[in-house]
Amino acid sequence: MRFVYDFDEDSGGGRELLGGKGIGLAEMTQLGIPVPGGFTITTDACRAYLAAGGEVPAGLDDEVDRHVAGLEERTGKRFGDPDDPLLVSVRSGAAISMPGMMDTVLNLGLNEVSVEGLAETTGNLRFALDSYRRLVQMYGEVVDGVDGHRFEQALSDLKADRGVSQDVDLSGEDLRELVRTFHGIYEEGTGGSFPQDPREQLRRAYRAVFESWKAPRAQVYRRTYDIPDDLGTAVNVVQMVFGNRGDRSGTGVCFTRDPATGERVLFGEFLLNAQGEDVVAGIRTPEPIARMRELLPDAYDQLVDTLDHLEGHYRDVQDIEFTVEEGTLYLLQTRTGKRTAAAALRIAAEMVDEGLISREEAVARIDPGQLDQLLHPRIDPDAHYEVAARGLNASPGAAVGAIVLDADTAEARGREGEDVILVRWETTPDDIHGLVQARGVLTAHGGMTSHAAVVARGMGKPCVAGCEGLAIDMAAGTVTIGGHELRAGDVISIDGANGSVIVGAVPLVPPAIDENFGTILAWADDLRRLRVRANADTPADAAKAREFGAEGIGLCRTEHMFMSDERLPVVREMILAREEDERRAALDRLLPLQQGDFEGIFEAMAGLPVTIRLLDPPLHEFLPSLEEATSDAMRDRIRQLHEANPMLGTRGCRLGLQFPEIYEMQVRAIVRAARAVAERTGEAPIVEIMHPLVGFREELARLRELTERVAAEEPTVSYLCGTMIELPRAAIRADEIAEEADFFSFGTNDLTQTALGFSRDDAEGKFLTFYLEHGILERNPFEVLDEEGVGDLMRFAVERGRGTKPTIKLGICGEHGGEPRSVAFCHRLGLDYVSCSPYRVPLARLAAAQRYEDAARLRDRLDALERVVEDLAELQRLRRAELCLVVPAEEPGFVRAYAVAGGRVAASRRLPRNGGASVEAGALVAEARGRIAGGPSYAPEAADELLLVAGFVRRPPPELTVLPLDAGRLAAACTGVEPAAWVA
Ligand code: ADP
Ligand code: MG
Ligand code: MG
Repeated sequence: MRFVYDFDEDSGGGRELLGGKGIGLAEMTQLGIPVPGGFTITTDACRAYLAAGGEVPAGLDDEVDRHVAGLEERTGKRFGDPDDPLLVSVRSGAAISMPGMMDTVLNLGLNEVSVEGLAETTGNLRFALDSYRRLVQMYGEVVDGVDGHRFEQALSDLKADRGVSQDVDLSGEDLRELVRTFHGIYEEGTGGSFPQDPREQLRRAYRAVFESWKAPRAQVYRRTYDIPDDLGTAVNVVQMVFGNRGDRSGTGVCFTRDPATGERVLFGEFLLNAQGEDVVAGIRTPEPIARMRELLPDAYDQLVDTLDHLEGHYRDVQDIEFTVEEGTLYLLQTRTGKRTAAAALRIAAEMVDEGLISREEAVARIDPGQLDQLLHPRIDPDAHYEVAARGLNASPGAAVGAIVLDADTAEARGREGEDVILVRWETTPDDIHGLVQARGVLTAHGGMTSHAAVVARGMGKPCVAGCEGLAIDMAAGTVTIGGHELRAGDVISIDGANGSVIVGAVPLVPPAIDENFGTILAWADDLRRLRVRANADTPADAAKAREFGAEGIGLCRTEHMFMSDERLPVVREMILAREEDERRAALDRLLPLQQGDFEGIFEAMAGLPVTIRLLDPPLHEFLPSLEEATSDAMRDRIRQLHEANPMLGTRGCRLGLQFPEIYEMQVRAIVRAARAVAERTGEAPIVEIMHPLVGFREELARLRELTERVAAEEPTVSYLCGTMIELPRAAIRADEIAEEADFFSFGTNDLTQTALGFSRDDAEGKFLTFYLEHGILERNPFEVLDEEGVGDLMRFAVERGRGTKPTIKLGICGEHGGEPRSVAFCHRLGLDYVSCSPYRVPLARLAAAQRYEDAARLRDRLDALERVVEDLAELQRLRRAELCLVVPAEEPGFVRAYAVAGGRVAASRRLPRNGGASVEAGALVAEARGRIAGGPSYAPEAADELLLVAGFVRRPPPELTVLPLDAGRLAAACTGVEPAAWVA
C-alpha cells in the first residue's frame, strides 16, 4: 500500500485519505493556484500506526525519504544543506477539520549549521535566527511535550530586558541569545539536546502528529462533534515560505465572505513581517485585511483574484491561510468557511442570485440544527443598560451568566444548570470542555479568528473577544471590566452581535428573523412533500406556530386547560364526585371554558387541520399531595387513585372509557367551538379528534361511537376521529385499529418509552447517561428516533394501517417531529406530516425539504466526480468488476456498504464505521453475487436510502475493488439520473 502522495499527484482518494488540509493543498496545486511544494502522508499510514500500537508501518520512512528527495529536486534545495537548506512545515490535517486540535511544526530542517547558511543566503540574520528559535519552540512543544509557556516566558523576559514590546524589535544578537536559551529549555525539558539531523527531525515530527490524534483535547473535540475516533489524521509536509522575511512579507487569514453576516466582502486579518502562527495565536494584534492593500498592493490584488477563483471552483465560501514572501503570494490552506446561521442563509440566498448554486443546493446547504442559533436570544432593544466595556463582536447572540474564570469550573457549574460565562485572557483548545457548558465566552485577547471566536461561532454561542477593558487576576479571582471591580460568580451580560459587555443582567428577547430566512424557507416549502404542523396548546402558541410557518396543529393537549387556577377547583370537584350526576354538573361548568380554549386555537388556525387530543394523564395528577389535601374525601380519593406506575396506569382512553362524561364534554366543546368559529369567521378549521393510548381496536371502536353520538347531538361540523399510536400493540395491530380510525398520529415519546421499556424520567440523567457514555447506545432515543426499533414499529403501523385504509392520514407528534434526522426518517416512511414545537417548525420545514433535493444534488456530485475519475481506462477496468462502495451513512459512526453488479445495487447494508466494516463489505459482495446469480436483483427500498452525506469514501480493503467515488454516482445508477455513465 502506498502511504505518500505529492500535492500534484493523483492519489485516487479523497478527503478521508488525504485529510482536509491535504486535499485542499492537492486541489489548489492542481488548479494552478500558487502553493508551496510538498506531499501528504495519508490517514492510512496513521491508522496503520495506531493499529500497530505506535509502530510506523513498514516502508513508510523510505517512502517519505523518496518524496523528500523529489521535493529537493523540484526546489533545488537540499534538506540539511549547510548553505541553503530546504525547510518544511509538518502539519496535521484530519478528514474533518478540527481547528487548533492538532499541532504544526514550522521551519523544520534547521540546525546549528544551516541556520548560519540561511542567514547568509538570505542576507538576513534576524530572520534566520527567528525561524530557528520558532523551530526549537514548536518542536519542543509538539514533538517532545515541553511546556510552551517556558519558551514564551523566556521571550517576554528578553523583551522586557531589552526594553522592547514587539518581537520584531529584537536584534539578531538578541535572537542568538534567545536560541541559546531555548536550547537550554529544550534540554531541561527532554534531557537530550535538540536533534540536528533534519531527517530525524522529520521522522519524529510525523510520529508526533500521529500521536496527537490520541491527545485528550482532540478526543474531547471529537466527542463534542460526533467525529469517529478511528479516522486518523494525515500529515502534510510543506516547503516553508516565509512571511517573516521583512517588510515585503507577511501572513494572514481570510474568508471570501464575512462569516458573521454573510456579506460579500473579504474578511480577514493580516500581519506584516510575521509567520503564520502569529495571526491566530492572539499574541500580536493583527490588522484588518484591507490594510494589506496599502502595504502590499500587488500581493493583495493577486489574493483577490485567487479567492475569486477558489470560490468559483468550490462554489462555497472559503477560509484560507496565506503567506507573502518578498511580495509573492502563496496559499497554505483552504477549507469551507464556517459561518453563523444568519450568514449561512444570506450566503446561500445570494449565491443563488449570483448563479453559483441552485435553489435546491441552497436549501441543502443549511444545517437545520444551526437554525436554532437564529432563535437565540438578543438583548431587549428597549432595555436600558450601560456598556462597561467593548470587544470584538466575535459570535452573535446575547448571554447572561455568572463569571467563571476557568474551563473546569465552567464545565462543572454549567452542567449543574447554572448560567455561566467563561471569562479568559484567551482560550486554547484545552478550554473546550468549559466552552461547551458555558452560555457565552468573553476574552481579553485575540481577534476575530482567535480560538475562542472560531469555536464559539461553530457552537452558536455568543462570544466577545479582544476586550481591552478586561483584566483578570486569576490568583485573586477578580476581574476588572471597564473599571468595575468584579469577582468570579458576579453576573455579567455579553452581546456577541456588537461586542458589548455589561455588568449585571439585562433582559433578553428572541431574535427577529430576517429576509434571507424567509427566502430559503420559502424555497424549502416548494421542495418538500411532508407537511409541517406544530404542537400547540394555547392560542398564543398557535399564533407563534403560524408565524413560523406551521400548516396546522398536530397535537393540542387538553390537560393544561384543566390546570389553571380558576378551573382546578371545578376539576377537583369533578374528580371527587361520587355520583355521575355530580360529575356531570361539574363538567357542565367546564364545558364553556373548554369551548373558549378551542375557539381561540381554531381562529388562529382557520382553514388548517387541528388535532385535539382528549384528556390523557391520570386523574390523580389534578389532585394535591396527600399532605396538602383539604378534606377527608380528598385524601380518600387520592389513596384510591394512587397507582404504582401511573405511566402505565389509568390514563388515556382507559380513563375516557371509565369516565365517558369527560370525553363527552370535550367532544361537545370541540364541535361547538368549531361551529362558532366557522360562523364568526366564515372558515372552519379541519377538526381532528384524537384518542390517546389506544392499544385495542375495541377501545377505539367504543370511543368512536361516543364521539359520533355526541357530535350528532350538536350542530353539524365535519371532523375526523383518530388515535395516537403510542403502544407497540397498537402499531402491530394497526390493520384492525385502522378500521376505526381516520388518522394515526405517532406519539413517539410514549412509543419510545413503551417499546424500549425505558421510563424517560428514570432513564435520562441515570442509566441512559451511562449507556451513552459507555457506547452501549449511540444516541439518546428520546432525542433522535430509534429507527431500528421504534421506527420499525412505525413501519409496521404504516404498512398495516394503509393496507386496511389507503387514505388514512399519518403523522408524528412526538418531539422527534422536530429533529432533522427523524424528520428525514418520517419522510422515508411516507408520513403525511410531522408536528413539533413552534420554535422547531422552521427547522422541520428545512429538514423535510432536504429530502427532496436529491436529483439536483446528485447531478452536481456527478460533475464533481467526473473530475475525480479521469482515468477512463481505469474506469473501464472497474466497470467489469463487481463493485462495493462504502460511504458514510447519515449517522456519524456508521457507513453504508453497497454492492453493485449488473448496473444496479445488489445489496446494501448499514455497518458501524470501524475496521470491521471493510471485512463485512467483502461478505456483502459475495452475498450480492449469490443474489444476482440466483434471481432478480434486489432494489433498494427507496431512492432516498441512498441520500448520503457527501465526502468520505473509505479506502478499499485490498480484496475488493472500490471506485473512488462519492454516493452520488451510485445513487445516480439506482435512481436513473444518469445510469449509462455508471456501470456498463
Ligand atoms: P492549523 O491547523 O492550526 O491552522 P497549520 O498547519 O495550518 O495549522 O499551520 C499553522 C500556521 O503555520 C498557519 O498559519 C499556516 O499558514 C502556517 N504554515 C504552515 N505551513 C507553512 C509553510 N510551509 N510555510 C509558511 N507558513 C506555514
Ligand atoms: Mg491552518
Ligand atoms: Mg402519550
